[in-house]
Amino acid sequence: MTRPALLWFRNDLRLADNPALMAVADRPILPVFVLDDDAAGAWKHGGAQRWWLHHALASLGADLSRRGVDLHLAQGDAAIIIPALAAAVGAEDIHVAQRFEPWGRRQDEAIATALKSTGRRLVRHRGTLLHDPHALRTGQGKPYQVYTPFSRAIFAAGEPAPPMDAPARLHPVANPPAGATLDLLPKRDWAKDFPKHWQPGEAGAAKRLAAFGTRALAAYDGARNIPAIPGTSGLSPHLRFGEISPRQVWHAAREAGATGSHTFLKEVLWRDFAYHLLFNRPEMPEAPLAEKFAAFPWQPNPKYLAAWQRGMTGYPIVDAGMRQLWATGWMHNRVRMIVASLLVKHLLQPWQDGQDWFWDTLVDGDLASNSASWQWVAGCGADAAPYFRVFNPMLQGAKFDPEGTYVTRWVPELARLPKNLIHQPWEAPPGLVRDYPPPIIDHAFGRARALAAYAAIKGETA
Ligand SMILES: Cc1cc2nc3c(=O)[nH]c(=O)nc-3n(C[C@H](O)[C@H](O)[C@H](O)COP(=O)(O)OP(=O)(O)OC[C@H]3O[C@@H](n4cnc5c(N)ncnc54)[C@H](O)[C@@H]3O)c2cc1C
Repeated sequence: MTRPALLWFRNDLRLADNPALMAVADRPILPVFVLDDDAAGAWKHGGAQRWWLHHALASLGADLSRRGVDLHLAQGDAAIIIPALAAAVGAEDIHVAQRFEPWGRRQDEAIATALKSTGRRLVRHRGTLLHDPHALRTGQGKPYQVYTPFSRAIFAAGEPAPPMDAPARLHPVANPPAGATLDLLPKRDWAKDFPKHWQPGEAGAAKRLAAFGTRALAAYDGARNIPAIPGTSGLSPHLRFGEISPRQVWHAAREAGATGSHTFLKEVLWRDFAYHLLFNRPEMPEAPLAEKFAAFPWQPNPKYLAAWQRGMTGYPIVDAGMRQLWATGWMHNRVRMIVASLLVKHLLQPWQDGQDWFWDTLVDGDLASNSASWQWVAGCGADAAPYFRVFNPMLQGAKFDPEGTYVTRWVPELARLPKNLIHQPWEAPPGLVRDYPPPIIDHAFGRARALAAYAAIKGETA
């Protein structure tokens, strides 16, 4: 119990199954979190993530205090703050969970090099993902581009090691320096309803996992596509901030042994796949992976974008999704695909604009999953949805929200409509719908225009 160590938390805000923490659990430690907006640049935490982070750090701080150490909070350039803190407490090694955002990788490299020159070490641990994104390769030695063989390779690699319990007691450094207070909450309280839906932090993650449980897992195969019911786990923000490890989720699903667990684990692996893509194609959040899409004839239109953001497109399932996002910081996966398709295909708005809005408003905003998913919907990503797949919002609504339960929960203007008209309110007799806009674009026109634009850049005639 001699040499002190620095434990730098980033996207691993938990005590259980945390390899970086376990590596130093029997030594005096200074646990640290640094808010470094400048290093992250355009990818600094979005508004909803900041709300989450505020509460997640409070929860982590309380969990650490109960075990005998205080979380040190700092704001500014981590490349300056971390070496300075290490020097102040006499720590020779700084332990972190690996991160894979391109800016984070660059910063870690720079910090590791700077520390080395002063005889210190940045020790990077696994724990963020199930598999190292740099280690997995196809038979030809290349990174995977297609999800199915990627997931097959992971399943074939066998079960991940069992998760580790949180240490019961931790040891503080002799003279911990005073930390800062982080200013993370929104000034205008647009997130006021978030606490009805979420409990950020490790305890909240454990509760969410337990609530999902065996019954939901058994029904997951069918229920995961129905936005009106809690058919999915809701674990995404907890995984995003590392309040639960993917290994914990994996083993909990295996232990539940339910029939839906394979489908569920395949979804969890989409997260690993997104990081695999981001690691190997770090330009993914900015540029289309399929290069010919650089010439795509987007037609940026602030009015279209604003109507979409506000949930006023006149397509009920789309508007319900966008309003769920605003009110709760989360949107059901099926509906994410539908709203994204309308924006990039019917409305020809650049996928980056949708990605940015999601980044700012999602509590689970995740650089890899967000950019991979937007590129997938836009048809320009690896293993993307074929460009001719233009979701029909009426058919999607009728199939996945046949009673209109989801739509009327978020778009109460449509509550008086008979069920058969919920997804096409423009066909309702006058007087039944008030204060709801007509469709922002005609579906058939938008679809044909999107197909023509896509065919043109694919070198085909429309
Ligand atoms: C346009 C678009 C943008 C998205 N942006 C994000 C994002 O910023 N952050 C994010 O975590 N997910 C994103 N997703 C993926 C997916 O919608 C969410 O992970 C899912 O809705 C989270 O709900 P859940 O936890 O109940 O999922 P569950 O169905 O319970 O799945 C369990 C876990 O698997 C992972 N997962 C499931 N589906 C996917 C997927 N398609 N891609 C990556 N991981 C997945 C998530 O970590 C999720 O928590 C996006 C999808 C689309 C179509």
